[in-house]
Amino acid sequence: MESLRAYIIARIAVEDRGYDTPCWIWQLSATADGYAQGLVPGRKSPGAMHRPSYEAFVGPIPDGLCIDHLCRVKTCVNPDHLEAVTSRENTLRGLSAIPHSHCRNGHEMTEDNILFSSSGRRCRTCYNEYQRTVVWPRKREEILRARRHRRAMRASGNQPFAGTVSVHSDGGTNP
Ligand SMILES: [Zn+2]
Ligand SMILES: [Zn+2]
Repeated sequence: MESLRAYIIARIAVEDRGYDTPCWIWQLSATADGYAQGLVPGRKSPGAMHRPSYEAFVGPIPDGLCIDHLCRVKTCVNPDHLEAVTSRENTLRGLSAIPHSHCRNGHEMTEDNILFSSSGRRCRTCYNEYQRTVVWPRKREEILRARRHRRAMRASGNQPFAGTVSVHSDGGTNP
């Protein structure tokens, strides 16, 4: 009988879907809720493939835990993208993936108020406010300090420098 690992590997396509490493996209059908569906060797009816894949490549799933897709691609069965978590954690993660209509400060997350960064979506209004009240004053202080420093350097460095240029011992002919 075909091993579970071989069964899975023969039915995936490795595709970059934007996660750290490529996804293993299941090539057969999907379950009603969109997960990879297959007929695990030795079983009678088809079912979702992420649990069998975790069990085949990682190990047994501890009692009561469910499998979370770190890559958020439901048809992916890459064991590196699957993590056993409590169902509470899974629900929280799912919720945080759903676009919020308002940021934590109550600004509406309309399309032109959303900034996309490596850490996810952020509120542009809050970002600008942070830049204005925290980042820019700090930067401004740095610039002023650098300017003061340059001025002090110039003041202390000018005197000896001016002295040496104005004196020529060879009678005035410079190379
Ligand atoms: Zn994946
Ligand atoms: Zn905001």
